[in-house]
Amino acid sequence: MTTLVLGAGMAGLAAAAALVQAGEAVTVLEARDRIGGRTCTDTDLAGFPVELGAELIHGDKVLTWELVRQLGLQVLPWRKEADSLVRLEDGRLLTMPAARAAEPLFNTTRAWDVDFPEPGSSEDFSAYLQRLGFTAEQLQYVRRSFGNSLGDEIRFISARAALDEIEDVVSGGGDFRLVAGYSAVYRHLAQGLDIRLEQPVTHITWGDGVTMTTIHGDRFHADHAVVTLPVGVLKAGSVTFDPPLPPLKQEALAGIGMGPVIKLIYVFAEAILPPETMAIYSRLNPPMWWSPSAGRETQKTVWTAFLSGDWARELLADGPDAALARGLATLRAETGRPDLQPVAMYLSNWPDDPYSQGGYSHVLAGHYGAREKLAQPTPPLYWAGEAAAPYHQAATVHGALATGRRAAADILAAR
Ligand SMILES: Cc1cc2nc3c(=O)[nH]c(=O)nc-3n(C[C@H](O)[C@H](O)[C@H](O)COP(=O)(O)OP(=O)(O)OC[C@H]3O[C@@H](n4cnc5c(N)ncnc54)[C@H](O)[C@@H]3O)c2cc1C
Repeated sequence: MTTLVLGAGMAGLAAAAALVQAGEAVTVLEARDRIGGRTCTDTDLAGFPVELGAELIHGDKVLTWELVRQLGLQVLPWRKEADSLVRLEDGRLLTMPAARAAEPLFNTTRAWDVDFPEPGSSEDFSAYLQRLGFTAEQLQYVRRSFGNSLGDEIRFISARAALDEIEDVVSGGGDFRLVAGYSAVYRHLAQGLDIRLEQPVTHITWGDGVTMTTIHGDRFHADHAVVTLPVGVLKAGSVTFDPPLPPLKQEALAGIGMGPVIKLIYVFAEAILPPETMAIYSRLNPPMWWSPSAGRETQKTVWTAFLSGDWARELLADGPDAALARGLATLRAETGRPDLQPVAMYLSNWPDDPYSQGGYSHVLAGHYGAREKLAQPTPPLYWAGEAAAPYHQAATVHGALATGRRAAADILAAR
C-alpha cells in the first residue's frame, strides 16, 4: 500500500516515519524549501539555535520527551519563578513570586485557584470570566500572558476550550527549551524519508485512492493520504478538494480559528539584563518576552517577544519595520536602557506565511468539539496536525506528533 503525506511539519514527519517503519511506501509533499513547518530553528541570527516558530516543550510528560530521550538531547527548564519579571498594572516591576505575593488580582490569573462553573455552550472566555466577577485589571492580566499564549483574543475563544487549557497549565509540569533546537527532532524524524520539497499542492482528488496535483502540474497518486495542512491554509481554500470536503469537515473548519502569532527577535552583542533573568511580562506591547540565550555559554544575548491577537494585529498594522521599532521601544522601557541597540533583529511573521496563514489553532466560542470533527478519518484521507489534536495537546508540537502517529496507526489498521 502507498501513502502520500501532505506537509513535512512535525505531524507529517511523525506520520511518515511511523508508516515507513511499518514497511509502507510513503512520499511526503512539502510546499516550502525546508522541512519542519512551524518549527524552524535558525542558527544564522545569533550563531546558536534560535526558534522562529515553536520554542518550548510544554509539560514534563508529553510525547516529545520520547524523542528527546532517544536522541539524548539537552534541555533547559524555564521555571517562571525569580527568573521572570512582571510589570504589574500599577507600574511595579517584580519577580514572578513577588508579584504573585504582592498582587492577589495577578495571582488569581497565574494560580487559577478558582471554582469554575460549567460554561455556557457558546460562551466565550472573556464573557465567562466577567460572569465570574473578574475585574478589568484581572482580564488584562489574563490577556497579557495566558490569553496571549492561546493564540488570539479571549473574546473569540470557547470558554470550555480555555478551561481545558487551564487544566493543562496547572498540571503540566513546566516548560523546557531544547539546547540544540527543535531542528534536532525534525531532522531525526526526516531521516530516510522520501520528501519532495518545493511542491505546493493545489488540488486533491479523493475517492478510489488519492491524487495530489502541485502548482507545477505534477501529479502524485497513492492509496491513502495524510493531510496535515494548517487550518489557516485549509480555510483559505488555496487547496481544493474533489469531491468537496463533507459537511463535518466544513463545520470543523468553521469552528476553529487561526490567530496571528508573531515573534520579534533581537540579538545583542552582550548581556542586557542579569543572567538569571529569563523573561519579562510587560504591560506594554509586546506583553511577553523571553531570552533564548538564557543558560547558554554565549557572549551574545537574544530577546524574543511572543505576541498574538490584538497585540500582534496592532504591531503589524504599520508594517514590519515599525513593528520591530515598537518592540525595541518596549524592551528599552522595560529594561530601563534607552541606549539598547541590537546587532540584528528579525520579525517571524506566521500570519503572513502562505503555508501556515496564522500561528496556531484555537476553538471558537460555540464550537467545542470542532477538533474531533477535524480529526475524524474520511478514508482514503486521514487528518493530522496540531488543530486535530485532543484539547490538552492541541496547538503544540507534541500534539502534532501525536496526531501524525494516530493517522499512521489508522492507515495501518485499515490495510
Ligand atoms: C510563533 C509560534 C510559537 C510556537 N510555540 C510553540 C511552543 O513553544 N511549543 C509548542 O509545543 N508549540 C508551539 N507552537 C505550535 C507548533 O509550532 C505547532 O503546533 C506545530 O509545529 C504544528 O505542526 P503541524 O505538523 O501540525 O503543522 P505545520 O508545522 O504547519 O506543518 C504543515 C506543513 O504543511 C506544509 N504546507 C502547507 N501548505 C501546503 C501545500 N499547499 N502543499 C504542500 N505543503 C503545504 C507547510 O509548509 C508545513 O511544512 C508555536 C507556533 C508558532 C507559530
